[in-house]
Amino acid sequence: MSNNLLTVAYIAASALFILSLGGLSNQETARRGNLFGIAGMAIAFIATALSTQVTGYTTLVAAIVPGAIIGSILAARVAMTSMPELVAMLHSFVGLAAVLVGFANYLQPESGLTGAEATIHELEIFIGIFIGAVTFTGSIIAFGKLRGLIGSKPLLLPARHLLNIAMLGGSIFLGWQFMTAGDASGQEAYPTNLLTVENGLQPLLIMTGIACVLGVHLVMAIGGADMPVVISMLNSYSGWAAAAAGFMLSNDVLIITGALVGSSGAILSYIMCAAMNRSFISVILGGFGEGSGKASSGEKKSYGEATTTTVEETVELLNDAKSVVIVPGYGMAVAQAQHMVSDVTKILRKRGKEVRFGIHPVAGRMPGHMNVLLAEANVPYDIVLEMEEINDDFSDTDVVLVVGANDTVNPSALDDPDSPIAGMPVMEVWNAQNVVVMKRSLGIGYAGVDNPLFYNDNTLMLLGDAKTNVSAILGELSAKELVAA
Ligand code: NDP
Repeated sequence: MSNNLLTVAYIAASALFILSLGGLSNQETARRGNLFGIAGMAIAFIATALSTQVTGYTTLVAAIVPGAIIGSILAARVAMTSMPELVAMLHSFVGLAAVLVGFANYLQPESGLTGAEATIHELEIFIGIFIGAVTFTGSIIAFGKLRGLIGSKPLLLPARHLLNIAMLGGSIFLGWQFMTAGDASGQEAYPTNLLTVENGLQPLLIMTGIACVLGVHLVMAIGGADMPVVISMLNSYSGWAAAAAGFMLSNDVLIITGALVGSSGAILSYIMCAAMNRSFISVILGGFGEGSGKASSGEKKSYGEATTTTVEETVELLNDAKSVVIVPGYGMAVAQAQHMVSDVTKILRKRGKEVRFGIHPVAGRMPGHMNVLLAEANVPYDIVLEMEEINDDFSDTDVVLVVGANDTVNPSALDDPDSPIAGMPVMEVWNAQNVVVMKRSLGIGYAGVDNPLFYNDNTLMLLGDAKTNVSAILGELSAKELVAA
């Protein structure tokens, strides 16, 4: 493919990526946004594969075909609840790819660059490998935390900020050593002296090790409720790592795509921090600052007795209600109860009741998790409201059904300054006349904090699997419908 055609293809792909991001900002246009993204990626991939730079088709096919097969199988099989883990794992691959591209570029025998160009190229390599390594190990730790392999409590080492600064300072020093060491490619016998300071590989390798430890430490220090921000921060880092790889490979479309992912991830992190009343800088610096990532005191407070209820009693409350708000959380995703919830909503609306959904920005395990599930279950978009749109309406609501939510409806975020989630805005469901909480026990949520909501006078606990209970409610409501007919 000629260079002109390649440029045109890259511009078209970049435009499609921008249209894709625009589409993804709204539920109604998200499907179209996804299609734009797929088309952009297909164009970028085909154009790159056909460009004059690519000659080793056997290697390309040998790498891409198994990758595509494994990726398709994994993506098709993944449960919605495991999607955030898959995304974290994919971010780690981007980081690893940037590290490998960096080393391959550095060791490339003939880079053909001299003077300022060579210096810039080495800087790209060093920064690319640094960001890639932090993203790689940070994403693996995020994967472990989301999967429950690593506890969600923050690891707060003494002098941890000094440790981070020392690692950053050490990396900058190694960067200086690397930049003044010369290029491996220019050395005659470089394979025999790879590990000498002179050719720069040694500082590069040491920096990679330090950046890997930094990635682990930064994410380990983030606890419970702050994890969503870390996930989107790692998303942003993976974008910058891809952009750095784009610079190293002189691939424009990779630079543009990386910059789009990097900046949109950073904006999303900022929005999430604002929604959770957290300091952006504090969270990205590994829980630095008051309130962020506090460890739970471990002290068990006594809140009295919780009142349990039955499916029949819940149906009666729903039948008597004029206005109902459903607040879903991670438990709805685990139970896969969204379709039943949607059917219950249809029946209640048919009976003239006002039914709306209240979505907390970090409900579930990834941004937009609940919106995706409700869209999949065909819940109309106009009754799905954000937290700030619905929080003031709870005092005029007859019944709130909390389906598998916990941290996002925890009043201690507002009442208890010592709580690890203190300061995080939550769904103020307790202001409604009646609250029915559906979960399997009185146990804790992701942040590991007890929830006093369960013990309030106007809270009834409908214990058990959310799908079983919502399906029983649906059965009871449908039976009443038949009798009425
Ligand atoms: P939580 O994680 O606080 O609580 C979910 C609750 O669901 C659990 O307490 C559990 O209680 C219940 N549950 C689990 N399985 C079932 C089931 N089959 N049926 C019924 N209930 C069930 O959920 P929230 O959505 O309220 O809060 C999300 C949390 O995750 C926040 O702390 C957030 O910061 C964090 N997070 C969010 C991310 C995001 O991007 N959205 C990313 C990473 C973390 P029980 O065991 O008693 O049933």
